[in-house]
Amino acid sequence: MSGTPYGQLLGHVPRRRWTDQRLARVHQSMSCFLLYLGVRRRYPRLTHHTIIVGPRYEGLVRDIFDRKTLAGDFSMYVHTPSRTDPSMAPPGCESMYVLVPVPNAASGIDWKTEAPRMTLRILDALEAWGLDGLSGALEVREVFTPDDFASQFGATLGNAFGIEPRLTQTAWFRPHNRSEEVGGLYLAGAGTHPGAGVPGVVLSAAATCHAIAKDFGFGEA
Ligand SMILES: Cc1cc2nc3c(=O)[nH]c(=O)nc-3n(C[C@H](O)[C@H](O)[C@H](O)COP(=O)(O)OP(=O)(O)OC[C@H]3O[C@@H](n4cnc5c(N)ncnc54)[C@H](O)[C@@H]3O)c2cc1C
Repeated sequence: MSGTPYGQLLGHVPRRRWTDQRLARVHQSMSCFLLYLGVRRRYPRLTHHTIIVGPRYEGLVRDIFDRKTLAGDFSMYVHTPSRTDPSMAPPGCESMYVLVPVPNAASGIDWKTEAPRMTLRILDALEAWGLDGLSGALEVREVFTPDDFASQFGATLGNAFGIEPRLTQTAWFRPHNRSEEVGGLYLAGAGTHPGAGVPGVVLSAAATCHAIAKDFGFGEA
């Protein structure tokens, strides 16, 4: 039985296209290391979306996608909803999450060992960037690693964004919204057509509704 949710759910079905062997060859997207923070002070330097770019671009991308190693440097996306919506944190506080792109579990990184180190590296980097006293002001600190994507969401290789959107895994080459294996089965979501991201997933739901409406003679959905 395949290690993918698709393979697990359809493990008993003879499959023409998405066989276990084929599923095993699918390239999974990268993963993310996430810190969810509740902070007992305000940081006006942060905006709702803040991107802090590290010293390298191409080399870092190759570390994540090709070499699958945990680099010594990183780029960060910091999401701080309390910057625009005061109800997201108590008065005088911020709520935020920090997203650092990392390789998926094909890397073999031992996150039990690396997560505490990575957490300290990120907090140090944020303080160096200008978030003074961040570590000492933490009320909440939750860590989410590729292992958690795998164990909590069943994400293959702990990927964060489903099947990697490379050319040969895009559009028609993704699993279709109308199942290619089982009559009356329809697929929607990041792992199918057109792909990941909330807009992609909503479009996927719309495409699936059209397929169902057509198959069952409901006319335009
Ligand atoms: C950190 C992060 C930040 C993101 N930020 C953005 C953003 O800013 N904008 C944007 O557009 N997109 C963003 N995305 C992408 C977006 O969240 C996803 O593309 C979207 O949520 C995928 O929706 P989905 O319904 O296909 O899958 P999911 O939302 O992943 O839902 C799948 C569900 O299926 C469950 N499941 C798995 N296996 C089984 C099983 N065997 N039986 C039952 N249930 C099962 C999982 O537990 C999960 O709850 C982000 C993703 C991540 C990880």
